[in-house]
Amino acid sequence: MLHLAFDDTDSLKGMCTTFLATEMIREFSDLDLIGYPRLVRLNPNVPWKTRGNGALCLRLGRGVGGKFKVGELEGRDIFAWTGSKDHPPPEEILPRAAAVLEKWAEIEDVLTNPAVAVFDCKPPPSMYWKAVRDIVPIAEAREAAKMAGAFRAYKNGRGIVGCVAAAAWRPQDRTYEILTYRQRARWGTERDIDSESVIEMDGRFPETFNNYDTLNRKVTIAPRSSCPILFGIRAERPDRLERAMRTIRSETPDRWFIFETNQGTDEHLVKAGKSVKRHTSVILRGLVAGPPTVHLGGHVIFPLNSGGRIDCAAYEPSKQFRRVARALMAGDEVVVCGSVRDEPKTINVEKIRVVKLVESKVKVANPSCPSCGKRMKSIGRGAGFRCLACRTKAPATAGVWKRTERQLKIGWYEPPVSARRHISMPLKRLGLKENAYPSK
Ligand code: ATP
Repeated sequence: MLHLAFDDTDSLKGMCTTFLATEMIREFSDLDLIGYPRLVRLNPNVPWKTRGNGALCLRLGRGVGGKFKVGELEGRDIFAWTGSKDHPPPEEILPRAAAVLEKWAEIEDVLTNPAVAVFDCKPPPSMYWKAVRDIVPIAEAREAAKMAGAFRAYKNGRGIVGCVAAAAWRPQDRTYEILTYRQRARWGTERDIDSESVIEMDGRFPETFNNYDTLNRKVTIAPRSSCPILFGIRAERPDRLERAMRTIRSETPDRWFIFETNQGTDEHLVKAGKSVKRHTSVILRGLVAGPPTVHLGGHVIFPLNSGGRIDCAAYEPSKQFRRVARALMAGDEVVVCGSVRDEPKTINVEKIRVVKLVESKVKVANPSCPSCGKRMKSIGRGAGFRCLACRTKAPATAGVWKRTERQLKIGWYEPPVSARRHISMPLKRLGLKENAYPSK
């Protein structure tokens, strides 16, 4: 089969590369879709992403095997096949795909650098892993693209990185998202979605995730941008997504498709060694090295010792998650998942596991003198006690302490739904994965 991949077509003003995917499907109705369309999220820390750093790949050919419904377009059901018997040469497909891209992409926007590729060989899996975890030089992606088939890259050509990575993805873990699109006349206007129906859907379809932020009472299936998407529902499995979609009371969608994705998989995370590299996302295990501090804007920062010392931050947009960071104490053992921010070097915490909590205690009284029984006086912070009557000394540990209850429990914590990254694994999924981040 052919891999038709495209990326970097949208700007903050509009468009969405997944919408372009639906237009590509329309254009290539003379071919068959093989498998679900793919929406592949890449490194969330690349400096030049517009929003969620998503790239797209459609697999095309002449279908064989079983067929299943993947969407609706212009009132027609669209099917995909499980296999392909043959396909036209990439050179024949590329000019048609490029014409669709040129019609819809925001090419004039200074920040877009679109690319479209038609591969008859799959690029190596390493191209996916590097693009989801690190930075891929444009030249390296172009080389891989040349080996895999034909492509067209516009302006600085950066979009080819996403094309190669999306085509190179071989799902190990995967989730699905049904994306519905708005009628053209409504683009840019406020979305009409009944939030009660979102809450209802969330309850009725437990295999879906990240639908509604109960803490902040926010619908999280709809973007806030002016893009053509109406809403998207994510799930472990694709089989009930169409039903879940029909539970939502909203303006009538113009079209919809189910995408296979790497969203919610945590595939961007790597176990960090001694040093943490800029633009990457890491898993760090260590001890909290001092008390958390609250900074201007409400950000909470705590130092972590995990071989080296690094600051970890729960920023203001993570809302209630900051309570967790604030409740940490020096000596607590934690596993931190997050992206490396460059200046000043900080981990932007996406998820945290509290492994061990130190005891929290407050001094309630000075000790009684072991010689004369009088109440002793403190000599200074951590310096111990002295009896004013008989001059007897006692160590700091002689004070009378009372244990206080910690405001945290052992376990995982994550930001509320509206503050999560597309690629971060929600705890709802993490619970399904046995031994996700083993303790040793
Ligand atoms: P979307 O809005 O579709 O979710 P986005 O708009 O945030 O995604 P893009 O418009 O796709 O992001 O722009 C990201 C750009 O960065 C693309 O050109 C893509 O090829 C490139 N890119 C993605 N990942 C990497 C990487 N790891 N290294 C280098 N370039 C990358």
